[in-house]
Amino acid sequence: MDVRRRPTSGKTIHSVKLKSVEDESAQKPSDALPLPLYLINALCFTVFFYVVYFLLSRWREKIRTSTPLHVVALSEIAAIVAFVASFIYLLGFFGIDFVQSLILRPPTDMWAVDDDEEETEEGIVLREDTLKLPCGQALDCSLSAPPLSRAVVSSPKAMDPIVLPSPKPKVFEEIPFPTTTTIPILGDEDEEIIKSVVAGTIPSYSLESKLGDCKRAAAIRREALQRITGKSLSGLPLEGFDYESILGQCCEMPVGYVQIPVGIAGPLLLDGKEYSVPMATTEGCLVASTNRGCKAIHLSGGATSVLLRDGMTRAPVVRFGTAKRAAQLKLYLEDPANFETLSTSFNKSSRFGRLQSIKCAIAGKNLYMRFCCSTGDAMGMNMVSKGVQNVLNFLQNDFPDMDVIGLSGNFCSDKKPAAVNWIEGRGKSVVCEAIIKGDVVKKVLKTNVEALVELNMLKNLTGSAMAGALGGFNAHASNIVTAIYIATGQDPAQNVESSNCITMMEAVNDGQDLHVSVTMPSIEVGTVGGGTQLASQSACLNLLGVKGASKETPGANSRVLASIVAGSVLAAELSLMSAIAAGQLVNSHMKYNRANKEAAVSKPSS
Ligand code: ADP
Repeated sequence: MDVRRRPTSGKTIHSVKLKSVEDESAQKPSDALPLPLYLINALCFTVFFYVVYFLLSRWREKIRTSTPLHVVALSEIAAIVAFVASFIYLLGFFGIDFVQSLILRPPTDMWAVDDDEEETEEGIVLREDTLKLPCGQALDCSLSAPPLSRAVVSSPKAMDPIVLPSPKPKVFEEIPFPTTTTIPILGDEDEEIIKSVVAGTIPSYSLESKLGDCKRAAAIRREALQRITGKSLSGLPLEGFDYESILGQCCEMPVGYVQIPVGIAGPLLLDGKEYSVPMATTEGCLVASTNRGCKAIHLSGGATSVLLRDGMTRAPVVRFGTAKRAAQLKLYLEDPANFETLSTSFNKSSRFGRLQSIKCAIAGKNLYMRFCCSTGDAMGMNMVSKGVQNVLNFLQNDFPDMDVIGLSGNFCSDKKPAAVNWIEGRGKSVVCEAIIKGDVVKKVLKTNVEALVELNMLKNLTGSAMAGALGGFNAHASNIVTAIYIATGQDPAQNVESSNCITMMEAVNDGQDLHVSVTMPSIEVGTVGGGTQLASQSACLNLLGVKGASKETPGANSRVLASIVAGSVLAAELSLMSAIAAGQLVNSHMKYNRANKEAAVSKPSS
């Protein structure tokens, strides 16, 4: 539950009662005497009933003897005082709490734990995920009630979330969350909506459109989710995020956001410019290792990149009655004479999507057409899909027997390991190289050229061949690709093909220096569209100087970003390979992933 606090000293839960909406410092009459509670209660009951009996008998005696009632003896005064005192005690102990708990303020917090239990911190942690209402029951009001714990049994209405007594979730207001997660105050009106979502009468997905307030929708959905699942989302922040910015394009039904730290590697000296590379990761050593590689590159005069190809692909699958008909369409599509007609059709849906080529493959009477187009600064999946749809519509005139099975037929190939991307390329194909001076290899990378060349041959080339690798002729390209993708708002799922990479190392200058290169045929990145426009991701793109669309040359920003990815991979490959060559692997992991945070550079997993 968002608003709960865990006690710092485990013993008593009373002061930090999770369900507590009462003032935890409130004193009870029973606190006045240093006796066990049951003794005080027994004493007060005895005194109360005894003095009542005593006073009533005295009263009857006076009536019988015609003595005025206001004439009282000392014993009667003492009895009256005792009566008043015990009455006040009993009223204070039972009366007020009873009225409050049963009539005025029923325990409606479904996360509540029993007040009178003493509990350890561990117990509280375990209980945090224990919902009083069984999971799923809230969705089906017809279910009979299974046994509940005391807190709920005392309030049978709590069994049915729809008829819960209107509980203003005061916990939201009264217990401050100790991190950046300040829970918004949900009012009575919100409580009604939460109950409806829990009951299934309002679909969770419709909250944004119904409320017109994305943050409020997320807060309500989140609370409903916790009640339905019985699982706490404490720790998943809600505050500090612009929920409007993801509506309709980045994420549906949000309940918060995950925090991933962003580290900076660099400066990466690439093509004569310096870049500070943002990497979002939770893997210790990764940024430090990449940073070390950047240093080695910088001290050696920098790296150089070349963009070999730039085109996003989409490959629909169509079916004909015969293989012959499928082949006829293949020939038609691959005939240069038809390209202009096809590209006119393809290009009409975007200013930036420009058809480059169509490559076909046949499987029986099924035809796979791999369209490739430039996409400006966008990664381009939407763009290429729209263009392909235009062409399919156009082809339907000349090939009316063409049966479109799917706009994507996996020959594209998106987010799956595939040789076609490794061989033909997808997105940006980049090669990046550097010559690392021998003394830098020794002083910064703590190894030597010969050892690196040998390790690269046996690990990245031979070892990967032995493993039957597909585009995986590298040490850990995907580490860097994924970290930069998350930081800059790329589609992290495209790390599959974007991490295709062959790392080459060779001794040059009479064996003194090291030539190192990474060849990456399918880096899929964009600086517009998708997650790139979100505040954090946009800030990271801004840091690299590639935010948004390039004003001078459409596509220039995304191409530079692809080069930075390759350059960073180059740096990280250098560092990891050096660490392995120098036998630092175990030591550096101990330094960064365990206790000693002051230790020097190490390496990530490969
Ligand atoms: P994707 O195709 O990568 O999914 P989107 O279609 O979501 O990307 O975003 C691309 C959008 O950005 C298109 O509407 C396009 O017209 C617009 N846009 C503006 N400037 C550029 C640019 N320089 N390069 C590519 N697209 C651009």
